[in-house]
Amino acid sequence: MIIKILFYDTKKYDKESFEAILPEYKGMEIEFLETDLSPSTARFANGCDAVCAFVNSDIGAKTIKILADEGIRLILMRCAGFNNIDLEEAKKHSITILRVPGYSPEAVAEHAMGLALAVNRHIHKGYIKVRENNFSLVGLTGINFYQKIAGIIGTGKIGAAMCRICRGFGMEVIAYDKYQNPDLDFVRYVDLDTLFAKSDLISLHCPLTKETHHLIQESTIEKMKDNVVLVNTSRGALIKTEDLIKGIRSMKFFGVGLDVYEEETDNVFENREDDILEHSVTARLLSFPNVIVTSHQGFLTEEALEAISRTTLDNAFDYENKKIKESNVVSVA
Ligand code: NAD
Repeated sequence: MIIKILFYDTKKYDKESFEAILPEYKGMEIEFLETDLSPSTARFANGCDAVCAFVNSDIGAKTIKILADEGIRLILMRCAGFNNIDLEEAKKHSITILRVPGYSPEAVAEHAMGLALAVNRHIHKGYIKVRENNFSLVGLTGINFYQKIAGIIGTGKIGAAMCRICRGFGMEVIAYDKYQNPDLDFVRYVDLDTLFAKSDLISLHCPLTKETHHLIQESTIEKMKDNVVLVNTSRGALIKTEDLIKGIRSMKFFGVGLDVYEEETDNVFENREDDILEHSVTARLLSFPNVIVTSHQGFLTEEALEAISRTTLDNAFDYENKKIKESNVVSVA
């Protein structure tokens, strides 16, 4: 068996983690591209059996049609989300899509708590102030999370890890999900309105769907407690940014930590330090002292990278051997 896979949108850390385990997968060949998958780069897959793509790859109808014309039978997503794929079109062209459903939920949950702590305790400001020999504490007062209420929206793998972390902080944990997680016996499930009304910390861990698109908007922000800390490590469009900005301006939030945000696509994983950013939304978010934005780095730990590499190559191997894992299937041809 020889399977040739073209990897799109690869960075140094992707290359290192995949190359470290590739020798274990005899007969598999990988070519790494820095450019991302889109209609204008899909033709590069000529001569390959599969492509490997990532969260912001453009895998719409046009891209899929070109990939199919080039003989691609398999799309390997090296991430959990797949909201960037036209699944109907993939089915039409008999392309199978496999993903990595979970690699290290703790990695993302720990980053979510990191953002919550940083905005709450102004760690981003403290770091800069001390570097400038400014040892004043004015403006750095935070709030204890201990004995406060954490509201977790979505209690799948990452949300459950976040629930456990919040419990470890001595918080009362309430949650909203369409399906209750039976492992979380210390969590009290409530309806969304109650979660908004009661929570001191709200962390989003549900997927982006039609139903959850702009879940956080003016009408839901109004229902939140004043001085709430809001964290989003899930998908940017769960929050309507214009309404979030209005809420921040009206002093609703103690702090906001975002690992994902609308319009992140052009920025994520790129070094744009010499560019003038074309979207004002990112710049406006960054202008608030109680907002921290990171660039979709929740997943980025050594453990998670190794797990992503292993599951992605296992998926390719299993596909060739006709024994794909149900849990890793997005769509089968
Ligand atoms: P998961 O599938 O294990 O859990 C998702 C949970 O959301 C499920 O329990 C599901 O029932 C629930 N849900 C679905 N629709 C809902 C709704 N309308 N309201 C409330 N809950 C709803 O997924 P996961 O592995 O925990 O990942 C969660 C999200 O985290 C992913 O969708 C992805 O967008 C994001 N993510 C981000 C990073 C990062 O680096 N920042 C990395 C991986 C995943």
